[in-house]
Amino acid sequence: MDKPFHVNREIMERTRKAHCLVLTYPTQGHINPMLQFAKLLHHKGLKVTLVTTHFLLNTLQLHAGSSKCNIALETISDGYDEGGYATAESADAYLNRFWEIGPQTLTKLLERMSSSEYPVDCIVYDAFLPWSLDVAKKFGIFGAVFFTQSCAVGNIYYHAQKGLLKLPVSGGDGEILIPGLQLPLEAVDFPSFLCDLGSYPAVYDMVVGQFSNVDEADWILCNTFHELEPEVVDWMSKLWPLKTIGPAIPSMYLDNRLKEDKDYGVSLFKQTNDACMKWLNEQPKVSVVYVSFGSGAELGAEQMEELAWGLRSSKSNFLWVVRESEAGKIPKGFVEETSEKGFVVSWCPQLEVLAHEAVGCFITHCGWNSTLEALSLGVPMLAMPQWTDQGTNAKYIVDVWKIGLKALADEKGIVRKDVVEHCIIEIMEGETGKESRRNAMKWKQVARKATDEGGSSDKNIGEFIAKVVQHLQP
Ligand code: UDP
Repeated sequence: MDKPFHVNREIMERTRKAHCLVLTYPTQGHINPMLQFAKLLHHKGLKVTLVTTHFLLNTLQLHAGSSKCNIALETISDGYDEGGYATAESADAYLNRFWEIGPQTLTKLLERMSSSEYPVDCIVYDAFLPWSLDVAKKFGIFGAVFFTQSCAVGNIYYHAQKGLLKLPVSGGDGEILIPGLQLPLEAVDFPSFLCDLGSYPAVYDMVVGQFSNVDEADWILCNTFHELEPEVVDWMSKLWPLKTIGPAIPSMYLDNRLKEDKDYGVSLFKQTNDACMKWLNEQPKVSVVYVSFGSGAELGAEQMEELAWGLRSSKSNFLWVVRESEAGKIPKGFVEETSEKGFVVSWCPQLEVLAHEAVGCFITHCGWNSTLEALSLGVPMLAMPQWTDQGTNAKYIVDVWKIGLKALADEKGIVRKDVVEHCIIEIMEGETGKESRRNAMKWKQVARKATDEGGSSDKNIGEFIAKVVQHLQP
């Protein structure tokens, strides 16, 4: 048994010398929680370097807040330094090239750093990049894999990777109970890549491949918290040295222990903060529906129209994030027609929006970060999952945590405008909404407690740091 972690002078001094690389997959939904974790390590005395791709670093908008946290930045290459993923011929082409060039450039980075003042002791690497562990081992460095998805989703991928799940999962299978999960799932609740096999082969390989070498990792870190998924966390903890460390969101929205940590600090998109917050400030309390599908989901033109008309006919005002690349699908004249009740922006400070007293409901694609953020800020959700792990998150939002509703799609997979309108009323005014809000407020307290001093995630982070330090050469 490992000794419990005690902060004492010796550990504090040795902690200062430990150097962690935090290597993230280059998308907003991955860099946000990993940068947040990097900030925590730094706050607790480690030297931390955040590593992402050349292209991403050139694209990132670094906010004022981020410069204060003194985290060094380094890059590797995904093979698309000029244009990133957008310039790849396909998702498969992108990942194949990344898997070839990524390990080579990570090796070069480690070679360079090994002769520097601060050689690297541990790589905290994104579970999407399992080859990082092989590189780390070549240098005799510890490897901690960081999962940016829920443990429920991770457990499903683990079963798929081990061949313990009949694939593809299909509607005809009825309900399937995966060991470790607390409730059975239907096909629609599974991560989409397990149902549409062959839709994105390299992406399938990547999500399932997160578990390809997990047995060799020194630590498993998960952006969730024990109280949120106790059954599956306990089940997975029997297999690996797993530590829940989340929710990895800026401190100001949780325990407020990192001063001035009020946003993630990096954005791949240009924000319209001032206009957005000014508009929200003018709205009455709990009157606004906030709508966002995150950084990657693409709605079909028909779905976009139905959503737009649903928002128009709903009684509530709305703030709708439509990324620039999606703007062409907004119905003609919609923005002008609804300007009295709605505001459409291309990107917003989501945490600030969710924390605003005017917001009463979040129409979301159920990305894992958005889910954790809404839950940590006590905002009930209307789930409109699109693909990847979002269907599983939606199932938990509705049936496990009971903090929202799912908007049901028709046989064509489209959520119609009257469904949107009806669900908004139900959340803003109905009994389900009241119960969801009460539960969301409860989760908000539990999330805070988990990250605050002595909470489950805080203790786990302390233990992780103690182990990194323990293994340092004197
Ligand atoms: N986000 C934001 N502004 C927006 C929309 C999203 O800052 O207008 C942030 C959001 O707070 C979250 C991340 O982008 O941290 C999206 O991650 P998520 O896992 O929810 O979805 P993904 O983009 O990975 O599909």
